[in-house]
Amino acid sequence: MIGIVGGGLAAAKLVEGYREAGGTDEITIWSQDPHGPYHRPPLSKRLLRGEAEPKDALAHPPEWYAEHGVDLKLGDAVSSLDQVQADTVVIATGARPRDLPGMLPLRTLDDALELRRRAETASTAVVVGGGFIGCEVTASLTQLGVQVTQIVREPLVFAPLQAQALSDTLHETYREHGVDLRLEASDIPTGADLTVAGIGVQPNVELAREAGHEVRSGIVVNERFETAKPGVYAIGDVAEFFDPVFGRHRRIEHWSNAAYHGTTLGKILAGEDTRYDIVSSFFSEEFGQSFKLFGDALDHDDTALEGDFREGKAVLRFLRGGGVVCAVTMGQDEDAENALKDEIRAGAAAAA
Ligand SMILES: Cc1cc2nc3c(=O)[nH]c(=O)nc-3n(C[C@H](O)[C@H](O)[C@H](O)COP(=O)(O)OP(=O)(O)OC[C@H]3O[C@@H](n4cnc5c(N)ncnc54)[C@H](O)[C@@H]3O)c2cc1C
Repeated sequence: MIGIVGGGLAAAKLVEGYREAGGTDEITIWSQDPHGPYHRPPLSKRLLRGEAEPKDALAHPPEWYAEHGVDLKLGDAVSSLDQVQADTVVIATGARPRDLPGMLPLRTLDDALELRRRAETASTAVVVGGGFIGCEVTASLTQLGVQVTQIVREPLVFAPLQAQALSDTLHETYREHGVDLRLEASDIPTGADLTVAGIGVQPNVELAREAGHEVRSGIVVNERFETAKPGVYAIGDVAEFFDPVFGRHRRIEHWSNAAYHGTTLGKILAGEDTRYDIVSSFFSEEFGQSFKLFGDALDHDDTALEGDFREGKAVLRFLRGGGVVCAVTMGQDEDAENALKDEIRAGAAAAA
């Protein structure tokens, strides 16, 4: 039996990958969320704006799990890994938002529905945070007609990307839409109808730590998602996995990473000889404008901009030792993206 602790995207994709690769063991998923696995990206975008409903965000319809031999236990928090009686244990507990007292968080479907309900009667809102949750919530609330003040501690939006050109363009777009976006700000205005915190997450590592697994920024696993203890794996937001493309451990809090981890571990558990082997990616959307990130900007020593984010078509390359290790893109087709991934693969190998 395979026991999966956590019922997010990584868990749902694991089941898919496992069954498609011919895996026949029974699977149990324990999830403390009352809803079955769902995609979180719509929660700050289409669902928050009322353009999508909860069923649209589900990874699979409710009946899919039983049809695929899965006992899905919802609303059930696992308090110790000893509770999980399975030959194979997968920790896919994701992350939870850091909270600010009195402010709404946004992580779960129920958080999004609550925020949507409150936005219906709000005229003003304060959003704290300049990462993707803060920026997307600001854009969505503005599109709903709410006057938003966004408080960003750093001098840039999406500060970890260190992409000045992208930050400048987003800032301009936000101003054009009437957002009061305050960079390098720490004072949180009072008196708004709605306040939302988007100040990052912390991985749910406690179960693993208590069970004696190595935990650094997340649960430490190799490129096959194995902890040091045979039969115990970790995937998704909670895992600090070995990325062979960059030759080091990384923890990534993004949709495509959770999906890929799940699918790949599913194949591994079904007996396929595979491992993590992609150039990581991330996407975000504000006011109908999407950008993507490929690779890892950490430790770059130079950048090169091609095109113009303001015109919706740009590639910002991050270089280390002359090679490309990361790219932030807007308006590129799949061929161009694939070519960039090849550049990053080569650049990361050279820099490792
Ligand atoms: C609002 C929002 C918008 C996003 N938008 C984007 C985007 O545009 N692009 C992008 O790349 N990424 C985006 N992300 C990030 C992406 O959704 C996450 O990286 C992804 O959901 C991680 O999946 P996961 O399965 O690892 O963890 P999670 O989705 O966090 O799932 C973990 C599950 O485990 C459960 N759990 C935790 N502890 C226990 C326990 N002890 N017992 C039982 N169950 C437990 C939790 O309740 C949860 O259901 C967004 C995230 C949010 C919140």
